[in-house]
Amino acid sequence: MPEIDPTEYEIAELGPKIKDVDDADELREMLELEEEGEDRAPVKTLIEDRIEKLEAEDDGEGDPESVDLSEMTVADIANMVRDVDDAAVLEGVLEREREGKDRSSAITQIENRIESIEGSDEDEDAEVEYVPPEEKYPELDHPTNDKKWVEGTVGEEYRDMWVYCETQAGELVDVSKEMLGKARELMDQYNEDYVVSESEASGGSEDSSSGEEERVVAVLIGDEASDLVEEVTAYGADLVVYHEDDRLERFQHTPYTEIFTDMSRAGGDLASEGHEDVEWKDYHEPRYTVFPATNNGRDLSALVQGALDSGLASDCSGLYIENAMISNPAKVGNAGDKKEFERVLHMKRPDFSGFEYSTILCIDKPNRDFHPQGASVIPGSFEIPEPDYEREAEVVDYEMALDDDWFQVEVTEFDRLTGGVDLTGNDVVVAVGRGIGDDPTKGIELALDLVDAFDHADLGLSRGVITSSYAFDSHVEQYVTEERQIGESGQVVEPDVYIAAGISGAIQHKVGCDESDTIIAINTNPDADVRDFSNYMIEGDLFEVLPRLTEAVEAGELGAVMQEASDD
Ligand SMILES: Cc1cc2nc3c(=O)[nH]c(=O)nc-3n(C[C@H](O)[C@H](O)[C@H](O)COP(=O)(O)OP(=O)(O)OC[C@H]3O[C@@H](n4cnc5c(N)ncnc54)[C@H](O)[C@@H]3O)c2cc1C
Repeated sequence: MPEIDPTEYEIAELGPKIKDVDDADELREMLELEEEGEDRAPVKTLIEDRIEKLEAEDDGEGDPESVDLSEMTVADIANMVRDVDDAAVLEGVLEREREGKDRSSAITQIENRIESIEGSDEDEDAEVEYVPPEEKYPELDHPTNDKKWVEGTVGEEYRDMWVYCETQAGELVDVSKEMLGKARELMDQYNEDYVVSESEASGGSEDSSSGEEERVVAVLIGDEASDLVEEVTAYGADLVVYHEDDRLERFQHTPYTEIFTDMSRAGGDLASEGHEDVEWKDYHEPRYTVFPATNNGRDLSALVQGALDSGLASDCSGLYIENAMISNPAKVGNAGDKKEFERVLHMKRPDFSGFEYSTILCIDKPNRDFHPQGASVIPGSFEIPEPDYEREAEVVDYEMALDDDWFQVEVTEFDRLTGGVDLTGNDVVVAVGRGIGDDPTKGIELALDLVDAFDHADLGLSRGVITSSYAFDSHVEQYVTEERQIGESGQVVEPDVYIAAGISGAIQHKVGCDESDTIIAINTNPDADVRDFSNYMIEGDLFEVLPRLTEAVEAGELGAVMQEASDD
């Protein structure tokens, strides 16, 4: 019997554990247990990869000085050389590849690695020659050829952080206020770091990058957008640009995208290219754009960033601006060189269901600028600031003609759903997650028992339960619907007490409940992420803990049980 039984663990917990197992036989036993048990493909891949790695090590494979390159793919070679720091060893690998399969892509990988260790032979200040894509790769079809924005924008001027302020039924949605508050905080710091201090350093000279502070620009689009000017100013905007038209009562992809991109390109040198000549903006495009990661905001952000020929970091939960030292040859021009890029928006986003975070950077490359640096933001990621109705902003009523062809969808009738489950008004929400997996029906029953023990309580679910293919008995099946999902793509609740049983606490779930007054987590894993935002963490099996809580509530003893749990 191996020390670790994989069937007792979630995949996210298993990764680090498997890495520590150095015995291939033990891993094979683990594989067998998994196959007999849950038989999860990603878990089997994890174990098999580890076995393969150990066997390769035993066979002396992977030793760059002796490995048989002809048995390896170019990707394998690239991975191998990445870990080698000795240029002489790499020269040996290069020679063997040349004498063997002589693959140009493998040779480039090895040479790049040698260069990055030894530094490039090329003149450090050498200009990277610009060859337009259609000349460089004449054999390729270039779908972006006709887009003059794709290449040739280098050293243009970019300024300001633009925030798309989404509305619903004429009201600003909360995430718009959150983004304005965050943008205010970021640009205040930006101005301190890059404008004031650089201006001081240059003795107050007013060039394009110093002297003039950069702004938070609120973009409003809708049928009554001007009504919200005062509010977005109160939440942090320095400049409000709005476009109003009766046809914009509801979000529609084409007109909203056209309006935002037209605003972005207006003014400056671009006016002569057919874009509006405006006084309020004299730069090429926004430096940064921020959109909400809502249903409509996700669509709009992708379309706008695509139209502006830049990238998008979607579903972010953290933003900050910093310089970044980059050594990627695609970005700096020569392998082995390093370059510090200034004023880079660092966009943090949860990956692998919130278990890992990536930080996405949108970095220029030689002969190509990437602006705006764009992000969409998960609602609930930032605090809503206190509005300041004394603030003042410049206001622009942005005029542009809207093409009738952009309005392909006509909303002839609409209805607001009145049914469904509203979890927001409850004193208590008892939410269960995939921890119910051993007996899903029982798990729901126990949660409902606890719900019944309170006066104003209801049942919530993690998305994990909705997307799992648990077979529920019919009497609880009615409770397992998306309407009860708590989180980013579900409901946001703020009850007095939120009980999270068998929920790991992924960011997407957290944003739906972390404003609750008291959060009680029940989890077999005392280090589950949910711990970070809970007031009480009960380490235990929900199938045992939930009935005890129910008894305690019915007996009016919840406080005592919590005290006991927190002392454990
Ligand atoms: C774009 C996007 C949007 C999303 N929106 C949402 C959303 O709105 N809401 C949401 O919830 N998720 C959302 N997710 C999914 C989210 O990332 C997580 O995958 C999900 O929240 C995990 O659900 P879980 O915590 O129930 O399951 P898991 O992550 O599998 O966690 C189960 C937990 O139960 C514990 N456990 C196991 N057995 C027991 C037991 N017997 N007793 C007690 N504890 C036990 C485990 O230790 C583990 O911590 C979204 C993901 C994406 C990519």
